[in-house]
Amino acid sequence: MSCCCSDVKYVYFFGGGQSEGKASMKQLLGGKGANLAEMAELGLPVPPGFTLSTEACAEYGKIGKEAFFAQVECQIQEALKKLEDATGKTFGKGPNPLLVSVRSGAAVSMPGMMDTVLNLGLNDETCQAMIELTGNERFVLDSYRRFMQMFGDVVLGVEHHDFEEALDSVKADKGVELDTQLTTEDLKEVIAKYREVVKAATGEDFPTDPMQQLFRGVQAVFDSWDNPRAVRYRQINDIRGLLGTAVNVQAMVFGNSGENSATGVAFTRDPSTGANEYFYGEFLINAQGEDVVAGIRTPQEITLAGSREWAKSQGVSEEDRAAKFPSLEEAMPECFGQLDGIRKTLEDHYKDMQDLEFTIEDGRLYMLQTRNGKRTAAAAVKIAMDLVEEGLIDEKEAVMRVDPAMLDQLLHPVFVKTSEDAANKVCVGLPASPGAATGQVVFTADEAEEWVAQGKQVILCRIETSPEDIGGMHVAAGILTARGGMTSHAAVVARGMGTCCVAGCGEIKINYKAKQFTVGSTVVKEGDWVSLNGSTGAVYVGKVETVEPELTGPFGHIMELADKYRKIGVRTNADTPADTAVAVKFGAEGIGLCRTEHMFFEGDRIVSFRRLILVAETVKKLKDQHNAKTLEELKSACCSCDCCCDDAAKAVKQYEQALAELLPLQRNDFIGIFEALEGRPCTVRLLDPPLHEFLPHDDKGQAEMAEQMGVDAAAVKQLVEDLHEFNPMLGHRGCRLGMTYPEVTEMQARAICEAAVAVPGAKPEIMIPLVGNVKELANQKEIVKSAIAAVEAEKGAKLEVMIGTMIEVPRAAVTADQIAEEAEFFSFGTNDLTQMGCGFSRDDAGKFLGEYVNAGVYEYDPFQVLDQEGVGELVRIAVEKGKATRPGIKLGICGEHGGEPSSVEFCCKVGLNYVSCSPFRVPIARLAAAQAAIKQA
Ligand code: PEP
Ligand code: MG
Repeated sequence: MSCCCSDVKYVYFFGGGQSEGKASMKQLLGGKGANLAEMAELGLPVPPGFTLSTEACAEYGKIGKEAFFAQVECQIQEALKKLEDATGKTFGKGPNPLLVSVRSGAAVSMPGMMDTVLNLGLNDETCQAMIELTGNERFVLDSYRRFMQMFGDVVLGVEHHDFEEALDSVKADKGVELDTQLTTEDLKEVIAKYREVVKAATGEDFPTDPMQQLFRGVQAVFDSWDNPRAVRYRQINDIRGLLGTAVNVQAMVFGNSGENSATGVAFTRDPSTGANEYFYGEFLINAQGEDVVAGIRTPQEITLAGSREWAKSQGVSEEDRAAKFPSLEEAMPECFGQLDGIRKTLEDHYKDMQDLEFTIEDGRLYMLQTRNGKRTAAAAVKIAMDLVEEGLIDEKEAVMRVDPAMLDQLLHPVFVKTSEDAANKVCVGLPASPGAATGQVVFTADEAEEWVAQGKQVILCRIETSPEDIGGMHVAAGILTARGGMTSHAAVVARGMGTCCVAGCGEIKINYKAKQFTVGSTVVKEGDWVSLNGSTGAVYVGKVETVEPELTGPFGHIMELADKYRKIGVRTNADTPADTAVAVKFGAEGIGLCRTEHMFFEGDRIVSFRRLILVAETVKKLKDQHNAKTLEELKSACCSCDCCCDDAAKAVKQYEQALAELLPLQRNDFIGIFEALEGRPCTVRLLDPPLHEFLPHDDKGQAEMAEQMGVDAAAVKQLVEDLHEFNPMLGHRGCRLGMTYPEVTEMQARAICEAAVAVPGAKPEIMIPLVGNVKELANQKEIVKSAIAAVEAEKGAKLEVMIGTMIEVPRAAVTADQIAEEAEFFSFGTNDLTQMGCGFSRDDAGKFLGEYVNAGVYEYDPFQVLDQEGVGELVRIAVEKGKATRPGIKLGICGEHGGEPSSVEFCCKVGLNYVSCSPFRVPIARLAAAQAAIKQA
């Protein structure tokens, strides 16, 4: 290889008291490299080595291996020389050969996703020198065969099982079961067989030149950055923007050099609970790192306390435990003492829970890795709060330490891990609403209600859900749909109710008639048990055990801190007293969106509402015909005409009667919600969805409705057809309904005001939906204002009711200065604003948005994460224009984005007063808002 060394520094040395890197250089050196450098600098016992940077990986990818190694060879040679000096060993030569490990290490840890080679530098010559040096032929030969196996697999691409077969054949010949029972002679045979395996698979001899081994090892680790599992891991964990992996070349220390050697991993605190009672970890005597992970031998606990607990859980007697599975504390007390001291040093230094790897070689402890340990949400919260108490971090840092999205794990039931691991996963859909649910499959909302009334637990399985299904959705333990994205009806409603939901699971084929669904060759019939993981989207056939979450002390404390530091309000989207109470428990400061339409589906009210819909168009036409503005005007006009008297009178009567039936029901709904709010504000949105959503679409439902209404089934069918819209989301909905049927607006406004009179301290805010033109708002506002005045006069009360609008039509956003003339508040309906701003149907775009995100057209699904440069710009413009007209205008967001951390940060930045989200996202929004405030300070 001819060298033309690059000016760019690609290689960083650590060890022997001369680290060139440090912990803050993670982006460049990867987490492992940066922390090895830092530990060496702290004077901890780290085997020396060097790190090829992530920039090197990027350059390797760009210019190819020949050109790359030509550029860095001299830097590698130089570092190798330093390494030889630091260790007193020689790479590739006796009498004291230097062997190295070659390990990956990106800036964000990706455990097990990329490749590693240990014991590199072994060949026949260095092997012989090692035998002479150590006098331990068996250990050296075992290391050699392990190296050949790893190098063969990782670098040469030989199938792992080819080596396993060769090893097994020798074991079978010798009549032994364990690797450890192989003699030195047996191992020589294994090595000879491995040579043959490599030759047969690759056509080449196993490389014996250590320098070539090193370059090829480095190359393989760089290549592993793009192996399919690493790519998939980055996708799943949303790891972006990294240059590649760094490669750490480090002097080998051997945990497998005898009974006085060991290797292990440990957490400085319990990663599942956050407890800080003892040192959590495992080790194996006379073993190399991969043995701990491989699970062939039973690892032992680090501490005596942990070991005793383990023995208890496994039913191992104290005698057996002490004899066969002693803790490190007992087996190697000195090393344990040193390791325990290092645990404290590292926590004090990094001010966080650490995940450590160590090796003990002939009684000497070496640290091979430290990093901030991965942990559950419960552990994250407890550790952050404990660290504040211990004085290691301050409150703001504690707030920043917890990923808001993780809090979900703490609020919903979850699967018992062992039970989920053992379950039969049949497919994966969209993780639409988190939590875990298990129940018997039903295929209609009515059945869900019936079965639950009989004391059963059900999973409601639908091709897609509609508002008609609300009752069944409410009682179901979980919801599974074949169609629909993250903002589909099922997803939005389920999140609002805190019900686990897996949506858009295209692999399941539902047959309503046969009351079954199939997924692949599995058939699931009504009554069969299935289980859903709403946090991962996994669907299991059969029961999986669940546990209820506990809102323990540290959770409450971190929430208190979040409230202390956040500057933006957090409200909830809720439309029942029960949901409101849950949201208040989670810290909601009011309701930012009460969708009134869901109320129309409960009990008998759907019947009243359908009666209204049945005659609404007739009444409207009559009003137009008679040029009547109100029903009163229409009635008197009709009395004096002879064209339509009877029909008109009947229709108007039915219309009025339906309104009169709905009014007290709505009033009671609002009373319940206002009471649950205990004086907190409540933004009530007037009717929004197109009317067809309230009608039955199947023959059976239509026949039932016809009977209830005393009309022909054909008339109902005709009505459904009349109300059918090709693009209902852009159709006759929102304030457009109020423009056509002002009596509905009037009835709703009246119900809200009467409820406010009935509940002292209630703070209603009336919100007009889907406004695109200020004149729409002015029109509806007039109706609302006269309803307020009428109730005030009737009840002798004074009401403070704000009137505002949603900004969810792009035209409203760009004319927000005009809209603000009429609106006292704006609430950004970013679901519709995204739909109309991006031109993506909320219900259908799920089919291709995934591809868009994969192709990088959109960084994230814009229905989940606010598209800040597009839809966000509409929000920013509306804020600016709204404030220009009405400086004190109150601003909020109530689209799904109101509970998504990065979108919450954006809302803080553009100056909204509050975010509003479904009850179970309230804690997430509180924490995200605090983090945004701390970042922006
Ligand atoms: C919105 O459009 O963002 C909104 C909150 O209203 P809905 O989801 O009910 O259309
Ligand atoms: Mg909307």
